[in-house]
Amino acid sequence: MKQLSLWSFTPAGPLAAKDLKSLPSIGRTTQRDLRLIKGIRELSILFVSDNGSFMPLKLKAKIGEAGKGDKLNQKLPSPIVNADSKVYWDGAREDRLMIRRCKNCGEKHFLPRHLCPSCWSEDLEWIQSSGRGIVHSYTVIRRTPMEAFRSRIPYIVALIDLEEGPRMMANVIGETALETKIGDLVEVCFEDRQDGAKVPQFRRLKA
Ligand SMILES: [Zn+2]
Repeated sequence: MKQLSLWSFTPAGPLAAKDLKSLPSIGRTTQRDLRLIKGIRELSILFVSDNGSFMPLKLKAKIGEAGKGDKLNQKLPSPIVNADSKVYWDGAREDRLMIRRCKNCGEKHFLPRHLCPSCWSEDLEWIQSSGRGIVHSYTVIRRTPMEAFRSRIPYIVALIDLEEGPRMMANVIGETALETKIGDLVEVCFEDRQDGAKVPQFRRLKA
């Protein structure tokens, strides 16, 4: 017969390793994840027991307001550049939106890839996009799993159809961003990140 037991915890300060040591059955990964969440005010784990060994069933963590200040000051992440995307990110640093074009079939694409997604040719080139596009779809983010973005909520993540054809995902930013509608005309802008890196984002154009 299965047994249930509830473990609850209200830490006085930041969650410490010793607080979690008494819970070997939640596993190392979960212990590490919990330690990374700053400002846990209340943690409860529902365990289910079978043959005497307990397994976590449900885990609930309440984040306190106390920790919020630290999170608001977190810097937004910088792009991770690889060989396929280097020209894209280098272009962004110069306020240019770069996309890939296949020299074999003419197809333009985004994200940057090593092979043409249409004909598999390796004969590709970089071209600069006009940066203008139309909102194909969008969503309003009201909760974010990444603490660095917490100060931004609510914010818009949209699929943008570029004039040249490719569809890309980006934030719509700017004063009227929350008024975004499907079909809106948008134009690329470049958001500063650390060390001179920039991220292509979009602003609504007045009709
Ligand atoms: Zn092609």
